[in-house]
Amino acid sequence: MIDEEDITGTGREGRASKKKSRSSARRKPIKTKTINTEFAVVSYAFAAVFVALILYLSYYLIFKSEDFISSPYNSRVKEMDEDVIRGNIYSADKVLLATTRVLKDGTEERIYPEGRMYAHVVGYSTKGMSGLELDANFSLLRSHSSVGERLTNDLTGEKNVGDSVVTTLDSEIQAAAYKSLSTYDGAVIVMDPETGEILAMVSEPSFDPNTLTRDWEFYMEDSESGILVNRATQGQYPPGSTYKIVTALAYLRSGGKTEDMFHCGGSYGESSDEEDEYIIHCYNNKAHGDEDLITAFAKSCNVAFSQVALKIPYETYLDTNKDLLFNTTPPVSFSNAKGGSFSLKENDKTDMWMQTGIGQGETMVSPLQMLMIASAVANDGILMRPYLIDHTENSDGITVDHYTKSSYGALISKEEAATLKRYMRAVITDGTGTDLDVENYTAYGKTGTAEYSTENKDLSHSWFVGFAERGDKKLAIAVILEGKNGEVHALPVAKAVFDACF
Ligand SMILES: [Zn+2]
Repeated sequence: MIDEEDITGTGREGRASKKKSRSSARRKPIKTKTINTEFAVVSYAFAAVFVALILYLSYYLIFKSEDFISSPYNSRVKEMDEDVIRGNIYSADKVLLATTRVLKDGTEERIYPEGRMYAHVVGYSTKGMSGLELDANFSLLRSHSSVGERLTNDLTGEKNVGDSVVTTLDSEIQAAAYKSLSTYDGAVIVMDPETGEILAMVSEPSFDPNTLTRDWEFYMEDSESGILVNRATQGQYPPGSTYKIVTALAYLRSGGKTEDMFHCGGSYGESSDEEDEYIIHCYNNKAHGDEDLITAFAKSCNVAFSQVALKIPYETYLDTNKDLLFNTTPPVSFSNAKGGSFSLKENDKTDMWMQTGIGQGETMVSPLQMLMIASAVANDGILMRPYLIDHTENSDGITVDHYTKSSYGALISKEEAATLKRYMRAVITDGTGTDLDVENYTAYGKTGTAEYSTENKDLSHSWFVGFAERGDKKLAIAVILEGKNGEVHALPVAKAVFDACF
């Protein structure tokens, strides 16, 4: 809608332009006296109208269209779709992830050249929208093409080309994550802990966004596989032993020491009521013997950590979880993200405390949640807000909006980060993650096996949460592989990603 002020504004410009064109028109006939005067008058009138039109359109394109589109109250987004050809989506290294092809009959087709590999993170623009297609919808339907181009398009009735979105995703890291996840269901999410840039985000099972409309009903009927769920940011899993990072921190905060000793005979039972003793087992009932806290962490000893959990005051445990962003919406720049839920209650029975300590109870996390914890440890305790869009640019590749890193603040102190870093390094040098003890980079992390069936203890997911560094370069990662037989391993997936990066 154009308000009165706009009309008067345009009118002023229109009058000004008419004056201008008349004065230039007066000079012309001197050179071409042979032109018929009547014809000339008509021509000049047309020229004047044309110039006025150009000025009006320029004014509209430069000032008013921006007002319309930027208004949060506008109901025109849908109509924008009819005026603008939806812009492209690129990886950070300019691999085309989504584009719109205009067919001869004028119909438009959204194409996803990388198909399944980026399906969840890029999302889809039909059927309610998801992923970047949803979050960047506005930018993709907004055109900052040059004024000349837009003017030409407006005059010829062509659509303008929407701005492109350039993401933070690194195509090589994304490919490595996608390839190494291979036939498993699960997720990989990778971030630069010093900036918050999401470098890769893969979720399996995946879908082909190019045939989404056709396959939609099938996906809707299939309630089992949750194929459209982005497991990296929305999946809710028991954290298993990766949660020992949280338990260790809460224990240290409640006065526990790295040197505190524990004894593991392979299993441990304790109960508040004697009839129902709950027994925790170490993996394969392995007896870890006498060990201090950091060794128990490195070896992922369930016996030690179920005892550790019982020594933490409830308030300290709860506050530590809150500091690590459990039970809240993750501070990320993309929508529909889920974090973790700390479900232990103060008066829960001993067995629930023991299970919670080793990441088995009712506490649930998304891979994103664990990625944020690993990133904070890697970055001296400070979490940089995870984000996916680096910048938007017009059809000539000129930057329109640039997004920069921003700090959420400290989740843990610098000293705590240093301590946890030492613990996570011990996992790689002396514990369950020795396959990552390589020369090319220095890795830190925590492995995890998370049982998810009370009937069959062999059913488990495999986790790896951690980071790697070399020189100035750092990379944080969370991997989950949904296991069907307890023999899946997330660690080789993390290694494949680190190897690709360093
Ligand atoms: Zn043990």
